[in-house]
Amino acid sequence: MKMKREGILVVISGFAGAGKGTIVKELMNRYDNYALSVSMTTRQPRVGEVDGVSYFFVSKEDFEKNIAADGFVEHACYCDNYYGTPKSYVEKQLADGKDVILEIEIQGALKIKELYPTALLLFVMPPSAQELRKRLIGRGTETMEVVNKRMNRAAQEADGIEQYDYIVVNDTIEVCVQDTHSIIEAAHAKPIRNEALIRTVREELKRMAKGE
Ligand code: 5GP
Repeated sequence: MKMKREGILVVISGFAGAGKGTIVKELMNRYDNYALSVSMTTRQPRVGEVDGVSYFFVSKEDFEKNIAADGFVEHACYCDNYYGTPKSYVEKQLADGKDVILEIEIQGALKIKELYPTALLLFVMPPSAQELRKRLIGRGTETMEVVNKRMNRAAQEADGIEQYDYIVVNDTIEVCVQDTHSIIEAAHAKPIRNEALIRTVREELKRMAKGE
């Protein structure tokens, strides 16, 4: 009997404007092995964001209650707002063998790595800093002040990139989505993510060698 493959917790981080949202959306559209975790946040919804789809938008009080009830896998404070990954969804999807995607920032990513040593950490990079700036301005949704703030934040975040397992360069979205999927597929073949299968076959071999 073939063993069900174990789900991987896939963390996707990257600078604002690097295109991680688009990559995640495409992964979800194209392949059926992924489940996307919806985070809880205390920040205000932006135009077009839907409660329960983009985020679960909650008050600071409710967020803190959830922390006290041990309801998060991880949570972090980012630009004066709380963000957290609800525990129940992640655990259920992993148990179903899904690869669960968390689109979170670096503090959360490092906590995940500590708690789940088999998690896969990916960092989405723009082809260059100039391109990132061009994209942020090109969106037309932010003032120059916000663009500059996000560029400053990117400069800080860049210091943590080596803590990730892989970078994916988002030059053309098509190639980037395929690269990301390939990395995740290859990660499934690592011994650390196949301990149950290895153990079973090893034990069977030992029994056979003893003539049982
Ligand atoms: P935004 O406000 O632009 O939607 O998100 C701000 C940052 O928070 C982004 O880097 C996003 O990836 C991150 N983020 C979203 N949800 C979570 C979460 O549940 N935990 C952590 N640690 N970061 C999150």
